[in-house]
Amino acid sequence: MKCKLCNNKAVMNGFCSKHYVEWFENQVFKTIKDYQLLSPDEKIAVAVSGGKDSKSLLYILSKKFNVTAIAIDEGIPGYRDVLLEGLKQFCKDLGVKLKVYSFKQEFGLSLKEIVDSRKFKNSGLKPCSVCGVFRRYLLNKHAKSFDKLATAHNLDDEVQTVIMNVFKNNKDLLLRIGPITNKKKGFVQRVKPFYFLKEKQVAAYAFLKGFLPRFNECPFSYGLRSNVARLVNDLEVKMPGFKKNFIQAFLKIKQLAAKQGFESFDNVCKVCGEPSSKPVCKTCELVLRFNPGFKQLLKV
Ligand SMILES: [Zn+2]
Ligand SMILES: [Zn+2]
Repeated sequence: MKCKLCNNKAVMNGFCSKHYVEWFENQVFKTIKDYQLLSPDEKIAVAVSGGKDSKSLLYILSKKFNVTAIAIDEGIPGYRDVLLEGLKQFCKDLGVKLKVYSFKQEFGLSLKEIVDSRKFKNSGLKPCSVCGVFRRYLLNKHAKSFDKLATAHNLDDEVQTVIMNVFKNNKDLLLRIGPITNKKKGFVQRVKPFYFLKEKQVAAYAFLKGFLPRFNECPFSYGLRSNVARLVNDLEVKMPGFKKNFIQAFLKIKQLAAKQGFESFDNVCKVCGEPSSKPVCKTCELVLRFNPGFKQLLKV
């Protein structure tokens, strides 16, 4: 099959590799424009993991916007350290500043140390639940001096997250969904320029641009998300357009819910001063549980 726009062989979405890359970047800039995600006079932090999605995002945004890369080093030997090495070179080549914040330096313990501890083993918690809370906390804390925080979440990530929150009956289900979060005191506004692009489309772009790292699987990942991913992909095959319809339905629910004033996080944590729905935020609760002697977190 030939490309829709030229005589070369089509590789993805009916485009040759050159025209697919152009199409993909235009889709990203279109989402940014349609939803007013970013503007050229803003200072933008881009959350980067060293994986293909966030490298693609950083690369595309650096073409038109004032970006700084922010990475979180959880302390996962043989995984994050390898990705961060590649990321340092990638940012250097792009001429983009990279800031790295680690669990060890911020909370006194690396993720590996937490997961290996007896307390953790007896807690019934999954590594991803601690890691996710800490990562979000640090990204928000350190991106607050920027106008926006851009993340590489794609359509598949968003559908999976909504479904997982439904499975867990999580009341904060609607809080973070949508291509842009509401302005809220204590929070940097988060934007997702890949919001309407599928995982497969982002992967194809990253592959064609040579952005794939050597590997991408976290050793602590425990599989719920990949099960949900499989389920969602099966549904998409049976009902083409399922992913987009599903997320559009939730965006409508979110709009209606916003009118009822559903959002929490109206207080600040009495330990660290960051926004929280409870007197002590989830991050401080976890840090004090696994590292009771840690004082650095205390607000000065
Ligand atoms: Zn072409
Ligand atoms: Zn706190």
